[in-house]
Amino acid sequence: MAISKVWVEDGCTACGLCADVCPEVFVIEDVSTVIEGVRYSDYEAQIKDAADGCPVEVIKYSE
Ligand code: SF4
Repeated sequence: MAISKVWVEDGCTACGLCADVCPEVFVIEDVSTVIEGVRYSDYEAQIKDAADGCPVEVIKYSE
């Protein structure tokens, strides 16, 4: 299954890791924000790496 939805739950510390790992999907505003309109399935490995690497585990996705 391909990733079709990505979101960031409350608790992001704006550490920047996800935007470093996958700048095509995550941008740091006050907190990490998922860029809309991206074909997330094109960045599956990076999204999973970002979710795995997030120190507070607030990156979620659905397939
Ligand atoms: S890796 Fe996690 S804590 Fe760090 S900016 Fe991204 S969502 Fe926020």
